[in-house]
Amino acid sequence: MTPLLPATANHPLLPRLARRRGLQAWLIALSLAVMALAPRIWIGTESHLFYLLPIIAVGLSATVTGRKPTFLVLAITTAANIWTSALPTDLPALALSMLFGVIAWLLAEVFWELGAYRRRTDQLSVHLDRRQVMLETILASVPVMTVTREGMIQMLTHPACQLFGTTQASVGKPVSAFIDGFDAIEESASVGPNDHVWTGRRENEITFPLNVQVGVLPEQPASDHLILCLTDLSLAHAADAHARDLHAQLNRVWRLNSLGEMAATLAHELNQPLSAATTYLHASQVDVARAGLMGESAGRTIELAKGQILRAGSIIRRMRELLAHQARSLGQERVGAMVADLAGVFSMIERAGGVQIQIQIDDVHDRVRADRIQFQQAMVNLVRNGVEALAGTADPQLRIVGRVLSDAEFQIVVEDNGIGIAAEKIDTIFRPLMTTKAGGMGLGLSVTRTIVESHGGVLQVEKSVLGGAAFSFCLMREQEMEPE
Ligand code: ADP
Repeated sequence: MTPLLPATANHPLLPRLARRRGLQAWLIALSLAVMALAPRIWIGTESHLFYLLPIIAVGLSATVTGRKPTFLVLAITTAANIWTSALPTDLPALALSMLFGVIAWLLAEVFWELGAYRRRTDQLSVHLDRRQVMLETILASVPVMTVTREGMIQMLTHPACQLFGTTQASVGKPVSAFIDGFDAIEESASVGPNDHVWTGRRENEITFPLNVQVGVLPEQPASDHLILCLTDLSLAHAADAHARDLHAQLNRVWRLNSLGEMAATLAHELNQPLSAATTYLHASQVDVARAGLMGESAGRTIELAKGQILRAGSIIRRMRELLAHQARSLGQERVGAMVADLAGVFSMIERAGGVQIQIQIDDVHDRVRADRIQFQQAMVNLVRNGVEALAGTADPQLRIVGRVLSDAEFQIVVEDNGIGIAAEKIDTIFRPLMTTKAGGMGLGLSVTRTIVESHGGVLQVEKSVLGGAAFSFCLMREQEMEPE
């Protein structure tokens, strides 16, 4: 990634102040010492001027090299001073040389401090420049406006202009022209995160849901302006509304499906006793007929009772037939899209169960024949069961896999690493009204099986590679529509 600002872009002084290290530093120090001593040939040792040059050399060395090379400059120049002017017994000159050493060292310390200080300042300056660029980049991509306490717009970023369909000409206008009922003084008290939904108003009078996070410039506690971070909630609201609609639709379908399943079960269960009752009545009729005229009236009553039972039986039969042949409108659908459409419903299930649903669907070759809402109902049933089976599992996992199984079939698997299903229970779990849950109705799997069968598939269950249960079924692929 390209840095926002090169480290020294705006700081030409930095390279000059940069310290030299290693051999380079030692060579510079040595050169400075030589340059400081060489002019003595002309100045001679009589003049005190020759103390000046070594002091400059030590200062320079302190600026561009480290402590050790500077100490070398100091040592060489002090030694040269003592050697050439102080020895053997000139005590004042010796004292002067020592004084030079101390002054030069103090000077070096000052230069070091100064150098360190300047380097810190330059670093801070680069840091500030970077933050400035970063801030400007953020502001260029986020809808933000600043507002006076009187509620007048002071500044608005480009995305804020786009949000309200306006231009920079809106600076100075009241913010309430864009956010219905926004009172700057009242809202300055609500600094910090809040979920309030405002009504944003574009210049063309179109309104939209808006979230406003209010901030006050921190360095000005009695500030006269607020910072408003704006979020357009239209998309989020539309997604929520879609999820709610789908949820309501699925609930309706679930009620119908479960009612159908209950009716089918009842019809199945009642059919036998009703046939038995008819047989018994028929037998009684035969017995009564043997009694001749006396039994005639009773025979007629039994005939009426038989008629009613047969009628009840035919009502039930009709209902079963109706449910069995309930037309499912299988259309051309894409599995990936049907599952993606459930995102809002799944996120509700995820939140409630504390599970993250993984979706791995081949969404290139996923064209199938399906009844969208019935398929989604089946998926929600299987996912909800999986999430319930994961209660109390450490590291819960639930996966929806969709893949091409053959030219004709697209397989869907919903698997988890929950409690799983004991082998001896595998046959019973699909029976209507069979449940192991306290509040369960025992209809989810039987409804799901009916849906899968109405799509020409078979609902199967086996042990998942994840450790829990894996429910799977196939849908018919729409091959002729596949892209080449
Ligand atoms: P309900 O969920 O109301 O109990 P279902 O017909 O959906 O009714 O499920 C029947 C039973 O099958 C459940 O009570 C449960 O014991 C078992 N079951 C279903 N799905 C799973 C699963 N993913 N893991 C373990 N058991 C399951």
